[in-house]
Amino acid sequence: MSTCNQEDRRSEAAEEPHSRAFSRRVIVGRGAAMLAGGSALISTIFPPRAAAASSKVPKAQAGYRDAPKGAIRCDRCTQYQPPTGCNIVEGPISPSGSCNFFAARTG
Ligand code: SF4
Repeated sequence: MSTCNQEDRRSEAAEEPHSRAFSRRVIVGRGAAMLAGGSALISTIFPPRAAAASSKVPKAQAGYRDAPKGAIRCDRCTQYQPPTGCNIVEGPISPSGSCNFFAARTG
């Protein structure tokens, strides 16, 4: 009787490394699936185009206004992209506008 129990324990012990490995495989597999699902969800909520649009500074934060500040004018700035664009400030800007990020063009 006790011999049978000892054999059962031995066979369980022999199977245990396999079941641990299987559990690890299942956990790693499920973790990878959860990560893939999570990144798909994030891409759905924040599409890449929206992320690119938000890389520019809002006009209010840049201190932008549609008028020059003395010699400071967008059409004299290194960041100006004719006719109404700016490399760092969001949205259309005026060539005669100005902001706190003005950097004079040379030459
Ligand atoms: S002054 Fe400001 S808004 Fe105008 S081009 Fe330069 S960085 Fe852009």
